[in-house]
Order: sequence, then C-alpha cells, then structure tokens
Amino acid sequence: MDAIIKAHGLQKYFGTFHVLKDINFEIRKGEVVCIIGPSGSGKSTFLRCINQLEQIDAGYVTVEDEIAGYRRDGNRLFPLPDREIARQRQAVGMVFQKFHLFPHRTVLQNIIEGPVGVQRRPRQECIAEARALLQRVGLADKAGAYPGELSGGQQQRIAIARALAMKPKAMLFDEPTSALDPELVGEVLGVMKELAASGTTMIVVTHEIGFCREVADRVVFMDAGMIVETGTASDILENPRNPRVKNFISAVL
Ligand code: ADP
Ligand code: MG
Repeated sequence: MDAIIKAHGLQKYFGTFHVLKDINFEIRKGEVVCIIGPSGSGKSTFLRCINQLEQIDAGYVTVEDEIAGYRRDGNRLFPLPDREIARQRQAVGMVFQKFHLFPHRTVLQNIIEGPVGVQRRPRQECIAEARALLQRVGLADKAGAYPGELSGGQQQRIAIARALAMKPKAMLFDEPTSALDPELVGEVLGVMKELAASGTTMIVVTHEIGFCREVADRVVFMDAGMIVETGTASDILENPRNPRVKNFISAVL
C-alpha cells in the first residue's frame, strides 16, 4: 500500500503570492486520481512541483523511495546535481494541454528521442517499442508523419506515447483535452481510459467530469492553493460537503 508519489507539507510561492498552501497527497501504484478545481487554484503548479519543473519552498515530494531533488544520507539531505535531477524526472511522465511535439521530427523520431537520446537505450529496441506504443494509441500508420500533418487529438495521443516511451512509474496529465476541438476529446480520453484499465498510475487534472466518474479511484478538489476535499468520485461529485466544491460541481455539470 506504499505511495508511489507523495507530497508532504508542500508550499510554493511565486514571489509573494502563496500558490500552494500545505499540500498533502499520496497516490499508490495503479491508482487513478483526478484533480479538479477552479482555474488558478494551483493544479498545474502542483503537477509541475511533482515533476520538478518548479522549485518547492517548503515540504517535499517523494517518488518511490527518492526525495525529489535530494539524496538522503542517514537523516541528512543533500541537493542533487542537475544530471541526477534529470534522472529522477524520468520516473514521471507528463502530458500537457499543448502537445509540445518537435515539429521538424516525425512521429517515430519524437517518440524515440527520449529513450534513445536521453536514456541511451538501443535504437532498434526503442523503435520496436515506439511502434507498439503507436499501435496502443491507435496511430500505427502515422510513424512517418510530421506533427503538423496530424489533428490535435492525434498529436495528443502521440504526446502520450512519447511520455510512455520513457517507461515512467507514473503519468501526470495537465488538462490533456482542454486545447482540443470537442469532437477530438473522446479519442484522447479513450487512450487514457485504456491506460487506467491496464494499471497505469495516473494523476489527471481535468474538467472532464464524466472521465472522473468513470475512471478515477479518487477525486481531489483544489481551491486557492489547498486541497479542499478528497474522496471517491461519487463522494465528491454526487455528495460534496464543502460549499465551494458544490458550487464548482454544479457549474461544470
Ligand atoms: P491552475 O492550473 O489550477 O489553473 P496554476 O497552477 O496554473 O493554476 O496557477 C495558480 C496561480 O499561480 C495562478 O494565480 C497563476 O496566475 C499563478 N502562477 C502560475 N504560474 C506562475 C508563474 N510562473 N509566475 C507567477 N505566477 C504564476
Ligand atoms: Mg492549469
């Protein structure tokens, strides 16, 4: 029952603005946690702290047995050099609202960039895995295409495949369907449902309440830099206790 990812007493400021206020959170292997909440509540910043894209001001994040950004020696902590931080970051895959694919590289090249270029794994093996991932996201025929030739939904499915190619221990999704035309949302959620069903540990920031209801083991509601309520999807969506959660749910449903 150990946590794969844990945040303890997490505090984050942007200048004098207190954006994360004592966040305590855990996710276990195979769990799917959806994070919902109003815009500006700190959801993206929280994911970015987990993935060390932001520096934390107090508290800590652990991924499996490691403290993000630090090496433990007895009961003392030593900051890690960049190279080691880069290694730690590979344990967590991240998918953003915008797909961030390399425009001048083919789909296949985009997917193998990390495993070959960063993880230094054998190229042929990575290509074979990339083809299997393309199959998995339903885009086996797009290996040679360039991102600009694909729809937003297809590009996001490639971005998911690219993150998975690093064999992360958990996947973070930050509003992965928010930038898509409505008719393309379903194909991306479909891929995410398949990942969830096959045991992928996932934290998903989303406004897709239907996805939360269907897939989430737990739903976390954030507001103003705090976790206000957490529970099963039906606890949070059907019977929210906190009035702020109630208001938000009735506005988005
Ligand atoms: P959410 O993802 O829930 O919409 P964010 O984590 O993006 O919220 O942002 C939380 C708050 O922090 C917002 O008020 C936002 O304007 C502010 N913020 C986010 N990133 C930065 C930054 N790099 N510098 C200053 N303020 C930021
Ligand atoms: Mg956000």
